[in-house]
Amino acid sequence: MTDHVRLLPADPATRRLLDLRRLEAHTAHFGPLPTVPGPKEGRPGPLAEQVGIAGLRGRGGGWFPTARKLHAVVESAGAKGAIARGNKPVVIANAMEGEHLSNKDKVLITHAPHLVLDGIQAAATTIGATSAFIAVHRGSPLVSILDLAIAERARIDSVRVEVITPPERYVASEETALAHWATDGVAVPVYGARPFQKGMNGRPTLVDNAETLAHLALITRHGGAWFASIGDPQAPGTTLVTVAGAVTHAGVIEVATGTPVVDILARCGGAAIGVRGFLTGGYGGAWARTDDVLAAQWTPVSMAAQGAVIGAGVLWALEPDSCPLRELARIAAYMAGESAGQCGPCRFGLPSVADDLSLLATAHVGPEDTHRLHERLALIVGRGGCKHPDGTARLISTGLHAFQDEVAHHLNGRCSARTTAPSIPLPPGRSIPVARAGKDFK
Ligand code: SF4
Repeated sequence: MTDHVRLLPADPATRRLLDLRRLEAHTAHFGPLPTVPGPKEGRPGPLAEQVGIAGLRGRGGGWFPTARKLHAVVESAGAKGAIARGNKPVVIANAMEGEHLSNKDKVLITHAPHLVLDGIQAAATTIGATSAFIAVHRGSPLVSILDLAIAERARIDSVRVEVITPPERYVASEETALAHWATDGVAVPVYGARPFQKGMNGRPTLVDNAETLAHLALITRHGGAWFASIGDPQAPGTTLVTVAGAVTHAGVIEVATGTPVVDILARCGGAAIGVRGFLTGGYGGAWARTDDVLAAQWTPVSMAAQGAVIGAGVLWALEPDSCPLRELARIAAYMAGESAGQCGPCRFGLPSVADDLSLLATAHVGPEDTHRLHERLALIVGRGGCKHPDGTARLISTGLHAFQDEVAHHLNGRCSARTTAPSIPLPPGRSIPVARAGKDFK
């Protein structure tokens, strides 16, 4: 298993011993970052071709091909004459970990901050960026780690990196919200142009997840073929997974893509007997039945075939004693409270479905109520300025499907759970609706 470790030593004792927070130790462990040529004739430097050969996909949730992003930013800059005007591209590393259940970027930066910073340098150089930022949420302990690491490497970096700290809100980590925050300090999503077209201060902006950039740093050293030599051919490499809930040893582990989910759980000591199901991807992910998840491999395609997602790399086993509908209702209420309040279906639709779920969770409903819930869900999908309502609707729909037996119990006024205590952790609650974009997202 450990031959699939590339980003982080698997053993915590080895991590402590290596102390990769220090630049000297980092360089001794990973080797120096090679020189990266810049863009030429409207195309990114040759690193982009290696990233394409690697088949690297974004690890922040979307699993979008990274090489396409690199090309899109440079082409956008060239098309607008932006470079000629001195309005050069920008890089924003996204380490916000907006998915509250995910811990992978925190673990990565805590133990290997220079690998992420190497990735920022390599990406910035290959697209000709002159400004770079790394976003962590306000109050994060990562700020001091990054400040120290950035200061230590100031003499070798070609692009200065600044740590930015948007508020800890779910939608603040969306890529247009980050570009918006870097521009004028309001972390709400923006509709219309994507950041690669018009990002921070209107400049073409590459927004990439911290883990994605760490992989890019290794591709810069070893090449695309090396990266693609392990993992699933359609989404190669290794990836970090946050495994938690009813498992023996919760934590963040690195696995090759394509690893069977049963093997991932085995590395964490196994899941409890009677696990009620799995929350996959995070709050904006999908619920899936235990048997379905256990039949999957950790690839976007295989998980999707089982009704699950990888998303931000979260695999949460729901406690056997818990009521899945109560958990679903709690998360739906949280997600409704995280709306930026800009779009009607999100601002009004999410609280409505959260209310419906709350009734269902307490078994005070009839079939007409669940019918109304499904109708409301259908009205939300595809109608927001960003994917927040779609992700929430998917979470709810998959939950209702995965736990249809429990739905039937509740419609009969019963609940099969042995406890009503909350199981899945949520950030401190916010009232519904929030809808004060200017005030709450600064
Ligand atoms: S869908 Fe919701 S979170 Fe997204 S932009 Fe609209 S109000 Fe904001």
